[in-house]
Amino acid sequence: MPFVSLENVRKSYGARTRTLEDVGFDVADGDFVTLLGPSGCGKSTLLKLMSGLSPLSGGTIRIGGMTPVEAREITSFIFQDATLLPWRTVQANIALALEFEGLARSEQPARIAEVLKLVGLEAVSGYYPRQLSGGMKMRVSIARALVTTPRLLLMDEPFGALDEITRNYLNEEILRLKGEQRWTAVFVTHSVPEAVFLSNRILVMRSAPGGIAREISVPFGFPRTPALRRDPDYLRTVAEVSEALAVAN
Ligand code: ADP
Repeated sequence: MPFVSLENVRKSYGARTRTLEDVGFDVADGDFVTLLGPSGCGKSTLLKLMSGLSPLSGGTIRIGGMTPVEAREITSFIFQDATLLPWRTVQANIALALEFEGLARSEQPARIAEVLKLVGLEAVSGYYPRQLSGGMKMRVSIARALVTTPRLLLMDEPFGALDEITRNYLNEEILRLKGEQRWTAVFVTHSVPEAVFLSNRILVMRSAPGGIAREISVPFGFPRTPALRRDPDYLRTVAEVSEALAVAN
């Protein structure tokens, strides 16, 4: 049985809108699946449905045999904005996720220290968000998502607002973290190179109504290194996916 499955998923925000129609796909345990599509095609909506933040208009979503609302305990979400509380330090921002989870206070410091080490933020654990660069804020946001040891990580254009060097670096980081923690990822982007670098599967979306136009398997194994970005096969795959995106839209 697939870890995540969507069948005939439909979403309308009002009587006359058809935001998503007949969306169906499976995600295997350990997959890194990217939803790629133009702005407004319904990528964020699809993630919100999978996270249980927004109700379905039709169809079903199962995550580890559960509904999205039931699966909240094993799901984490990373947004484009780091959404850190400015009056809390890095470690207190990360603690927030554990507070929501109801973890005993005495058990929190060890978990926070572990995740800070994992993302390389030990040195700034006492800093406030205003003392951090955009890339570091995003790493705090990643740490806050991972501290609850999710099985499913939903990411909504988490690196879209960052400069290219930081974005590439965090792409490598997120793959390294996945290698260490083995969660399953559903990632949203409109960047073709980012989709190809990160994923083993890309779901190319079309708009109005939103849906999956085509699936493309990415033919590179893991781990992946920065050198992949200069590989002719990588560049060919980027061109192929760009073409599929253009045809679909
Ligand atoms: P994407 O993430 O691909 O840019 P979204 O899922 O954000 O797309 O939006 C898809 C469509 O649904 C857009 O037309 C958007 O205006 C509409 N939409 C998204 N959220 C809402 C909402 N809460 N209420 C009404 N319409 C919405």
